[in-house]
Amino acid sequence: MLPWELINSKLEINQLAESARLSAFKDNRFNKKRDEKKVLKEIEFLNLKEFENISFEETAQICEGVELARRLVAAPPNSLTPQEMSIQASQIAKDHGLEVKILEAKDCEDLGMGAYLAVAKGSDLDPKFIHLTLKSEGPIKEKIALVGKGLTFDSGGYNLKVGASQIEMMKYDMGGSAAVLGAAKALGAIKPKGLEIHFIVASCENMINGSAVHPGDVVKASNGKTIEINNTDAEGRLTLADALTYASNLKPDAIIDLATLTGAIVVALGNDVAGFWSNNDNLANDLKAASSQSGEELWQMPLQKSYKEGLKSHIADMKNTGPRAGGSITAALFLEEFFDKEIKWAHIDIAGTCWTDKNKGINPSGATGFGVKTLVQWIKNK
Ligand SMILES: [Zn+2]
Repeated sequence: MLPWELINSKLEINQLAESARLSAFKDNRFNKKRDEKKVLKEIEFLNLKEFENISFEETAQICEGVELARRLVAAPPNSLTPQEMSIQASQIAKDHGLEVKILEAKDCEDLGMGAYLAVAKGSDLDPKFIHLTLKSEGPIKEKIALVGKGLTFDSGGYNLKVGASQIEMMKYDMGGSAAVLGAAKALGAIKPKGLEIHFIVASCENMINGSAVHPGDVVKASNGKTIEINNTDAEGRLTLADALTYASNLKPDAIIDLATLTGAIVVALGNDVAGFWSNNDNLANDLKAASSQSGEELWQMPLQKSYKEGLKSHIADMKNTGPRAGGSITAALFLEEFFDKEIKWAHIDIAGTCWTDKNKGINPSGATGFGVKTLVQWIKNK
């Protein structure tokens, strides 16, 4: 418990309530303890006379968004399929009055999404391209697109994940989309003013069958650029290429994408800090401010233009992977090819932060829900 003298503001009381609720979160859906009754039902604050009229409603709404993201990430790949993700997204839309559009493979084909569909075709499960829209009543000041990587399982494809690559944990390769849908749930309840917010997920699996993409295939993304797939395990950026193009065509003022994109970011920043890249200093500063308020740590990484050289292909406009060195940076540079350069953009690589093995005793799942709080805070600061 925090000593009373340290609590100075309503904000801190709300943060305390948020921490208490989120640290008591349990997810026993998949074990015998699923009926366990030891759940946090109430937090009581005593002697709060000097902070009258504190509302915990918004705190609860944010926590519900984080908890949804955690449940999505922790669900095994045979439970959270692209189809199930589209059902969960539709439920958010229904609960909070958002518009929902689910594009099937044929619709994506009509839009020329050759990069995304190349990843999806190795799986027996149909891809689902999810688009939710939250529109404030009254005049719209700003249009925002939040894009999340949604690989419900990533085997690596023919560049199969072997050795210590933790293939059995690749259910969490949809952590970016979980953050985006968690934010949709929280913001759908909070209903911020003056904004039109799009939530976009190109969901699918990266698997191996007779139609799966070959290492070396050349595909065309929906903005017309061609990509030589020199590594089928760098599939997230292929799905994001078409998701970012789709977002860009909506002509938003800003796009933020979140993705468990690279092992390189885990090597660089570990499991407590996510890396982010941005083409706009104001957006970068606003994100840093939101992250320090939310307690989710972000560290800005460089969009080092000279590294673009590493993505050069002899037969296509680019390759999907560059050299090992600076791998999270070339991934960001790749993404930058798929939206209008006038749009403010940030990319957050949460490969290290979306899962933790630290709190296993308390939360059997390990999913952190990383990203929801920062996205919501960033929107609330507008
Ligand atoms: Zn992969």
